[in-house]
This record gives sequence, C-alpha cells and structure tokens, in this order.
Amino acid sequence: MPEGPEIKRAADQIAQVLARRTAVQVEFGLPKLKQLGPKLSGRKIDAVEARGKALLIHFEGSDSLYTHNQLYGRWVIAKASERPHSSRSLRLAIDTRSASALLYSASDISLWKRADLASHPYIARLGVELLSADTELGAIHYQLENARFQNRTLAALLLDQGFLAGVGNYLRSEILFVAGVLPHWRPRDLDKNTRMKVASAAWELMRQSYRTGGITNDLTRAARLKKRGLSFGRYRHHVFDREGEPCWACETPVRRVTLAGRNVFICPTCQR
Ligand SMILES: [Zn+2]
Repeated sequence: MPEGPEIKRAADQIAQVLARRTAVQVEFGLPKLKQLGPKLSGRKIDAVEARGKALLIHFEGSDSLYTHNQLYGRWVIAKASERPHSSRSLRLAIDTRSASALLYSASDISLWKRADLASHPYIARLGVELLSADTELGAIHYQLENARFQNRTLAALLLDQGFLAGVGNYLRSEILFVAGVLPHWRPRDLDKNTRMKVASAAWELMRQSYRTGGITNDLTRAARLKKRGLSFGRYRHHVFDREGEPCWACETPVRRVTLAGRNVFICPTCQR
C-alpha cells in the first residue's frame, strides 16, 4: 500500500498534467457520481494536492474532488483522451488537451466545497503532515508530548494517521530503527533526547523517501549496494522486509515481530 511519499509523488505527476489546465472533459465511472461530470467539464484546475494518503484536485472556483485510493486504487497518466486497455474499472477520467489522468478501482471519491474540506471525516482526523512545506520538526515533538498519545505504543501510534499523517508499514519500521527504539515503547517511556530522535527520524525519512522514490536506507550505503548489483527492493531499507538478513550496521540478523496482524522489522542490537 502506498505511503505518504508515494502519494505525494503521484500527486506531483498528476499536477504536472492537470494543474493550471482546463479539464475539457471530466467523467465518472460510479453511477452515483455520473451527474458531476458535466458540472466539472470545461473548468480549469488550480492545483493537485496530497493530504495524508488522500489526493485532492482543486477546480477553479470553490469545488474540490477528494479521492482516496485505499488498497486498490491506481492513477494512470495517458495521452489525451486515451483509455489504455485495463481489467480494472475506470472510476474517474480527467482529460485536458495534452493528457489524461485516469483513476482506476478507487471508490472513495467525492466532491466538496473547498472551504468544507477540513471537515471531511478523513482529513479532519489527520495529524501532523510530515511532507507539508510549513510543518516544522517541533510539531512532531509536540505530538510525542501530547497527553492523548502518551500511553500507546510507538508501533500503534506510527500507523495512526491522527498522529503523523502518511506513515505506513515500511516507514514505521524504518523510523523505529533509525531512532534506535523498540516498537512496544510508549512516548511516556522516552526521555527528551529519545523523543527528539524519533521526531527527527520521522521527519528525515519521510522527506528522503519522497525525494528518492522510496529509499530509507543511508544513501551512501544504498549507492554502494546498488553498485554491487543488489536490486532496489534489497538495498532501499535498513530493516523493513529483511527478516533473517544481517543488519547493515551491526550484522545481527533482522527480526520480524507481528503486532496487531502487521509486521514490524527490528535489529535487536541497534534498537534497545
Ligand atoms: Zn543492527
């Protein structure tokens, strides 16, 4: 499932073909949304924006389309008015004169007044937006000190979009590793210095992953491993999805721990 960095990169690509262009035709696949097509066709698109794992398309005036891919949704960019053959169902097509942005399989699509978006149930509960240009490191530290989050494990908090928006399964393991903390620790167990480490790791890894297309490993090490012939999947992470393989830093075999049905990967030597 794509996490914040992947969603923001998808939003950037879609923005490249849609932002500041006229949507000559907008079509919806779901019957209950079909009547919105004529209302949006012919209007200019101001901007495309990622919020957590949702993607917003702001039309000129006050209308914004909210889309969330959940597990199956997928955006495809095609030549103008082209509909590549697909076994997936087309749920939204936005054609400009130069390209088309197509959303397949997603069913969580709705039209909002821009002013009301903050009350959308998903957006309203989003925590700190790690990739937003105006988010400061202190905001993450503040979340870790917030009484509301003190007694929950870091493993649970890091997947809670109300804590930090956009963190998913791979970022969770990588943040815990880089901060040198264990998944079952709670914010109240951490001293100020360790809280700072968790905040910095979240901040740095999210940004690095966005910049590099998903690499959370040390970049010098990743470049060296790539040169040695390792695939992207093998060199991109510190510990995520590396069960039994030696930690890059200390050679201890990486361990997989299952918490609430989802995997966390740790190095028992580096994290304690
Ligand atoms: Zn290690």
